[in-house]
Amino acid sequence: MNKRTFLKLFAALMASPSISSLPAWANEKLKNWAGNLEYSTDRLYSATSLTQIRDYVKKENKFKVLGTRHCFNNIADSTNSFLSLKSMDKVVDLDAAAHTVTINAGMTYGQLCPYLDAKGFALHNLASLPHISVAGAVTTATHGSGETNGNLATAVSALELVTASGDVVNLSRAHEGETFLAAVVGLGAIGVITKVTLDIQPTYTMRQYVYENLPLAAVNDHFDAIESSGYSVSLFTDWQKQRINEVWIKTRDDQTHPFEATPEFFGATKAKKNLHPIAELSAENCTEQMGVPGPWYERLPHFRMGFTPSAGKELQSEYFVPRPHAVEAILAIERLRDQVSPHLLISEIRAIAADNLWMSPCYHQSCVTIHFTWKQDWPAVSQLLPVIEKELAPFHARPHWGKLFKTSPAVLKSIYTQMPAFIELAKKYDPQGKFRNDFLNENIFAS
Ligand SMILES: Cc1cc2nc3c(=O)[nH]c(=O)nc-3n(C[C@H](O)[C@H](O)[C@H](O)COP(=O)(O)OP(=O)(O)OC[C@H]3O[C@@H](n4cnc5c(N)ncnc54)[C@H](O)[C@@H]3O)c2cc1C
Repeated sequence: MNKRTFLKLFAALMASPSISSLPAWANEKLKNWAGNLEYSTDRLYSATSLTQIRDYVKKENKFKVLGTRHCFNNIADSTNSFLSLKSMDKVVDLDAAAHTVTINAGMTYGQLCPYLDAKGFALHNLASLPHISVAGAVTTATHGSGETNGNLATAVSALELVTASGDVVNLSRAHEGETFLAAVVGLGAIGVITKVTLDIQPTYTMRQYVYENLPLAAVNDHFDAIESSGYSVSLFTDWQKQRINEVWIKTRDDQTHPFEATPEFFGATKAKKNLHPIAELSAENCTEQMGVPGPWYERLPHFRMGFTPSAGKELQSEYFVPRPHAVEAILAIERLRDQVSPHLLISEIRAIAADNLWMSPCYHQSCVTIHFTWKQDWPAVSQLLPVIEKELAPFHARPHWGKLFKTSPAVLKSIYTQMPAFIELAKKYDPQGKFRNDFLNENIFAS
């Protein structure tokens, strides 16, 4: 046993007896999913009950909850310690009459979705992969696509939180109004989310079609028609050759007008086999395409549960642009193609409906997102981000809270009108900054 491993095991053994500190991680450095960020501590405690969480919160002066570690920036990082709710991954209650499900906050979408489907229910949308925790996703305003679909946090109808004092607070859409709307996309600053209640709907089946080589001119001329062609639409591009490489259209079988898969789509041609967003890669880890019907949770994400999603070694950035500026913004990035492409694996353009969650990038505005999956070269990407952000600044683009950005705190403050009120609320539940870390201090609380 090396010294580092010994120290980890020792720290685990010294932890409160009410916290189970399983040393499964003892031989590895604690990193985020992409491996681009080694967290500042590897003190990690795993709680298995609300009582353990409350004891831990009361005992610690500073810590972060760690979800499934899928953020690319340091929003989840801590120099002190981490609390994991991974073992708390059960459904608490499915209320068929109210159309809600309440889950423990350690649960992932990958665990929840098959359960819901088996009971005859579904969620309104999912992100590109199901491997992420529900709590981590909603607190960072994670989204899928579909111009009538709000981000994943819009499905939250109630939260149970443990605040910095160790008290349990319940907030619901029905009863707490603005406080609830402030807390849902809470960026990990409001409290430890211990339970989440989500809106559900009757289960549905979907089909997914992929088209190749959509001319950029078609995006310019027919963007609204393209985006409204399916329940969820994604455009993948490497910004080369004046074209969108792939259009992924996900259509619900219960829609009044499901997508009709003609051989051509605004000049793009229907794919003849399943494709990965990066066409050269195997589609093995991608959800089924070619119009094969299947359950909602096996079509809404691009990547299948049980497979390593995406390209693996990568970085991600993403910017939300108000929908009326979608085409202008896309063309602005296309003009940067020679700078962007050498560092890019693939870009994705999606549409998201407006919401009323204070810290959501879609607060009171429907958006398109322009996403970049980068090669894992932070020195190059960090030089490029300010260039991209300058191009998108006229549109007041908002960066994804869980991905890499360089937007200054002053700009964030100017584009998040509710930030001062959000800070006040966070201070009410966490007066001493127990849940704050460098990311929050720099981007939110110092502004
Ligand atoms: C391959 C890949 C694909 C992705 N696809 C998408 C996509 O399609 N759409 C999109 O919008 N994003 C996407 N993301 C980003 C991802 O959804 C977000 O980063 C999300 O926050 C991940 O959740 P997590 O649990 O892994 O978060 P973590 O990184 O573990 O934590 C994120 C934040 O949530 C807080 N948190 C977690 N659990 C709790 C809790 N119980 N109580 C309080 N705070 C908590 C943490 O403290 C931290 O502040 C993708 C990321 C990857 C790696």
